[in-house]
Amino acid sequence: MSTDDAPDTDARPAAPSATAQARQQAAHTIAGARALYDSGATRSIDARLAVLATLDKALRIQRQNLLDAVYRDLRKNPTEATLTELGVLHQEIAHVRKHLKGWARPRSFSPGITLAPASGRLQHEPYGVALVISPWNYPVSLSLAPVVAAIAAGNTVVLKPSELAPATSAALAHLVRTHLDPNWVQVVEGGVDETTALLEERFDVILYTGNGTVGRIVARAAAEHLTPTILELGGKSPVFVDDDVDLATVARIIAWGKFTNAGQTCVAPDYVLARPETLDRLEPHLRRAVRELYGKDPRRSHDYGRIINERHFDRVLGLMDPVRCTVGGPETAARAELYIPPTVMVDVDPSDAVMDEEIFGPVLPLLAADGPDDAIRLIRAGEKPLTAYVFSGSPEVEEAFAQRTSSGSLAFGLTLAHVGSTTMPFGGVGESGMGAYHGRAGFEAFGHRKPVVSKPVRFTTLSMVFPPYGPLKRRLIPRLFG
Ligand code: NAD
Repeated sequence: MSTDDAPDTDARPAAPSATAQARQQAAHTIAGARALYDSGATRSIDARLAVLATLDKALRIQRQNLLDAVYRDLRKNPTEATLTELGVLHQEIAHVRKHLKGWARPRSFSPGITLAPASGRLQHEPYGVALVISPWNYPVSLSLAPVVAAIAAGNTVVLKPSELAPATSAALAHLVRTHLDPNWVQVVEGGVDETTALLEERFDVILYTGNGTVGRIVARAAAEHLTPTILELGGKSPVFVDDDVDLATVARIIAWGKFTNAGQTCVAPDYVLARPETLDRLEPHLRRAVRELYGKDPRRSHDYGRIINERHFDRVLGLMDPVRCTVGGPETAARAELYIPPTVMVDVDPSDAVMDEEIFGPVLPLLAADGPDDAIRLIRAGEKPLTAYVFSGSPEVEEAFAQRTSSGSLAFGLTLAHVGSTTMPFGGVGESGMGAYHGRAGFEAFGHRKPVVSKPVRFTTLSMVFPPYGPLKRRLIPRLFG
């Protein structure tokens, strides 16, 4: 090539960096979402119901595609995924479709005697353009359940699925592209660059599900635009087991809650507290429960999942102390297939490494507590968890946990299943998050309840408080307002 033919590198515009590309894509996506929102199309309740019906149908059409994707990302059993990924969504959509008109109806209120005569109504209005950032552990349901709430409330939505579940991210993008109005719901695939670019833009509401570190990044970015933020985070959800319960059944309930999705569930029981004698009796029941759920060798069970990636595999393995693992343990883990067995660790102390962070994997530490009061003390010594579980035959003990511990939710006699409830607001408190959604709570989280007050102008009583403050007003105002 002659020098004349050589490309003039200095004069050529630099190839857009990933961030510049991501910025361009983010701006373009939001412009589409905002244009549709500004057109007023999402104000119509019938139009929202139609979008939700289409989404429900799309989930049925794309069912196999989604189940395959979740299997590829997490080796999640299709029946389990039907329950925890798709089933919860169908239920949520059905509930919202049934109640949306009632929720959206303005509610009247009396503005009070001092404004009389006047009337008031609370009118729900959507925020506008919503951003939903979702995690990898329930990559379908935790992406689309917030989308359902955002649509119900009348927003347009930009969804950013997790790059750590790439097959599901692609399946969601395909579903949305194929079935939904391109500006009402859009999917932006990608990783940190794409999320960062989105967060630089102004959204009208953001729902983020994931860890607290990124939660803080999201909250900081949202603060730039004073954007309301719902943070669905995690934490160490404790279980207290009292001495007076049927330990065989309780062990099965705990084992199911802990080992579903290989422990990668935000509301999974993180650790168990009980009196030492109760722990001694509980441990063999947990061993039996694991065998009942996943057979003698969980590695060969079709019903047992895998860890999302090597980084999390190494992290979870690093939390185990081999000599204290009485069920499972690191010896039978297999990095090549990201398999960690259901593991029970005994004689754990609050100062052990496994108690430093949310485990988010199939390791269940058992810790001694000297009864309910001591368990409450230990729970209160940590950050506020996303949920807490109590198994006790005593209503007084249950009430003590309800009154003296703080968590996103509290469940007696069950694990996990409460998050599927369409009538329960789901969210954290303190370190486990802020705000809540699901059902009506989701509709309310994605909109503003605007008070609309109306007072006749003719013969207005407001003139009673206008200056000048002569003798009559100087006597009257302190009587009315003092
Ligand atoms: P993740 O790593 O997939 O992250 C979630 C999202 O954050 C992704 O979309 C990702 O792209 C984005 N992200 C990651 N790093 C970022 C950065 N530096 N800047 C901007 N965006 C970034 O998911 P995760 O955090 O590993 O999920 C696990 C955590 O989520 C656990 O703590 C778990 O308890 C919690 N969780 C909470 C709920 C809930 O409903 N409260 C549900 C599931 C999981």
